[in-house]
Amino acid sequence: MIGQRDTVNGAHFGFTDRWGGVSAVPYEQLNLGGAVGDDPGAVMANRELAAKSLGFDPARVVWMNQVHGADVAVVDAPWGEGPVPRADAVVTAERGLALAVLTADCVPVLLADPVASVAAAAHAGRPGLVAGVVPAAVRAMTELGADPARIVARTGPAVCGWCYEVPEEMRAEVAAVEPAAHADTAWGTPALDVSAGVHAQLERLGVRDRAQSPVCTRESKDHFSYRRDRTTGRLAGYVWLD
Ligand SMILES: [Zn+2]
Repeated sequence: MIGQRDTVNGAHFGFTDRWGGVSAVPYEQLNLGGAVGDDPGAVMANRELAAKSLGFDPARVVWMNQVHGADVAVVDAPWGEGPVPRADAVVTAERGLALAVLTADCVPVLLADPVASVAAAAHAGRPGLVAGVVPAAVRAMTELGADPARIVARTGPAVCGWCYEVPEEMRAEVAAVEPAAHADTAWGTPALDVSAGVHAQLERLGVRDRAQSPVCTRESKDHFSYRRDRTTGRLAGYVWLD
C-alpha cells in the first residue's frame, strides 16, 4: 500500500506501491491513475484507501492532468467540477491540502518548506527534466515564501539508469541539458538516469535535504512500470502540510 513515508517538521511525504487496492488485472491492485483504462469506481476506492492509510482527507487532494511539460499550478483547494487542468507541478501554501503526482517509471518529486508552509508535487520524466519542471516548481515555491535551503525533497520509485535504455542521440540531447542524467544500461547501451538529473537540478538550486527512493519500478514487481508492462496502473506520491 504505502511503500515509503516520511515526516519532517510537519511536512508529510508518501509514495504508494501497487498492493492493497481493489483494481483487477492488469491494474492490480492499487491503481491510482484515472486515465489508464481502469474501472473509475475502483480508482476512486483506491484513492480513498490510500488517503486513509496515509492519514489525509480524500476529499482534499489536488491531482494533475500531466502532459510532460513544465507548467506549474498554484492551488489552495481541490479542483471543482470539470476537467482537471494540465500541469506537471502543483504548489500550495494551504495546510491539510494533499498534492498528488501519478507515475509509472517517471520521477515523482515531492517538495516542502515546513517553515514557510509551502509544498509542491512535480512529475519529472525525461521531457520534464529537460523542460525544467522541478526548477519551475521551486521558483513558484520561493514566490510563496519558501527558501530552497529549507526545502525538503523526496523522490519516489522510478525507472533506474541501468534500465532506462534510449537511443544514443536522445541521451546526448538530454545530457547536454543535464549531464548528471547520462547513464549506461546494465547491458552497456545508452541510457538515462532521470532521478540523478532531478537531484542535480535540486542541488544546484540549493536544496540540501534530499532523499531518493532506492526502488527501480522496472525491476520491482511491487510497483507499476510502463516500460515493462505498457498497460498498467499508476503509483502516487503525496505531500501535505500539518
Ligand atoms: Zn532498474
